[in-house]
Amino acid sequence: MSDEVDLFVIGAGSGGVRAARIASGYGASVMIAEEYRVGGTCVIRGCVPKKLLVYASRFHEEFEDAAGFGWTLPEPKFDWATLIANKDKEIDRLEKAYTSNLERSKVKIVKSRAVLTDPHTVKLLATGETVRAKRILIATGGAPSLGKDIEGHEHVISSNEALHLKELPKRILIQGGGYIAVEFAGIFNGLGSEVTLVYRGDNILRGFDEEVRNHLRAELEKRGIKILTKKIVEGIEKVDHGLDVCLSGHDQIVVDQVMFATGRRPNVKGLGLEAAGVKLDERGAIAVDEFSQTNVPHIHAVGDVTDRIALTPVAIREGHAFADTVFGKKPVRVDHANVPTAVFSEPEVGVIGLTEAQACDTLAKVDIYKTSFRPMKATLSGRDTRVFMKLVVDGTSDRVVGAHIIGPDAGEMIQLIGVAVRLKATKADFDATMAVHPTAAEELVTMREKFATHVRQAAE
Ligand code: NDP
Repeated sequence: MSDEVDLFVIGAGSGGVRAARIASGYGASVMIAEEYRVGGTCVIRGCVPKKLLVYASRFHEEFEDAAGFGWTLPEPKFDWATLIANKDKEIDRLEKAYTSNLERSKVKIVKSRAVLTDPHTVKLLATGETVRAKRILIATGGAPSLGKDIEGHEHVISSNEALHLKELPKRILIQGGGYIAVEFAGIFNGLGSEVTLVYRGDNILRGFDEEVRNHLRAELEKRGIKILTKKIVEGIEKVDHGLDVCLSGHDQIVVDQVMFATGRRPNVKGLGLEAAGVKLDERGAIAVDEFSQTNVPHIHAVGDVTDRIALTPVAIREGHAFADTVFGKKPVRVDHANVPTAVFSEPEVGVIGLTEAQACDTLAKVDIYKTSFRPMKATLSGRDTRVFMKLVVDGTSDRVVGAHIIGPDAGEMIQLIGVAVRLKATKADFDATMAVHPTAAEELVTMREKFATHVRQAAE
């Protein structure tokens, strides 16, 4: 036995790091184990590198749009290797910052895979040492799930590999219709690849407002992304000139790269959960209560491994709330309602709260306000694109219960609307707010005309 700690955190991603630092601040002795790189999915192979690539991809339109504003540019050239090297440098810097923040907080970092051998003991596979912990936090995140093995599955990459490709593929097929699929479709399209998106359902972004799904699909198609719906990849064969992909319905397409963005699964395998007696839920995630406590009272879990809402800020909140509750003696529940979110597609999507359909299913009366307009910049650039905005209002209380935006900076806008929705702002509050002119966001406070009212028929 080498050590004994108050808290052992498995996984130095967003949730684990926050929990470790806050717990240490309350005086707990904390050790955190990470088998890969400090920072986790968000920093190392998720949100951050992805957003850097999104920025890179958007220059494409900027260069084109500049002409309408009088600029003449030499033919822009893009170098993938430079982008990846610069992105990697920034990720290294962030990893160091995360590491030094942990060290400053007096958290001991161990670079090892950690496995539970009983409810209080963690084994560090790198050294074989064991650590006794009064409490354990599992924050191991998730990993890409590539579905069942198909013929040629060895040719499939996930978003992890997409961030490290040696060269930009000329042609890429992306399977999936969720966040990662549409974001990477935008990245590769903007950087100059020919992109085909293959989705098994009838429209991308299942779960989002129907009009958001339709509008975004149309915008992606305007930019040249080919979207094939009601199709799946059935097999892949390597041929001289690329990868020959066989789709359901006997369709065939040859590309240089195939990426699957078909969801992520909680990282629970080989963690020793059985030895510790920790139970999973029916989706294979660690089952926790509202305080992120598992069925074993001194073992908690936060973030994607619990598959509640797989978003970085949610994991951070859960990690912080755990530390406050357990070590700060201030019980804190994380409110998982009304979480604003953005899809960094091109154009961007920002949403919060209920879709029109969800509101109609749950509220007696629903008012819908919406607008679609050409953004001001497009007037001179001549770009064929439209912004879309929708407010879903509880017709009984006048509260804004949902906001849906597609267009430039939708992510920035929805962050601020999140405050208003949280404060239970009414449509009258939106109307009373002075517009900022000329902006796109002003449309959110100037939507005077009701587009529709839905009244739910009382059950007989
Ligand atoms: P999503 O769950 O968003 O999407 C998965 C997609 O893959 C869906 O379209 C799903 O179809 C499809 N799919 C699933 N299984 C199969 C299969 N066997 N064959 C074919 N298609 C399949 O997952 P992502 O991987 O895109 O992202 C994971 C999570 O990460 C997101 O849910 C989000 O919470 C988070 N994330 C957040 C981001 C952000 O905040 N901007 C960015 C990236 C990720 P169907 O709809 O029919 O189920």
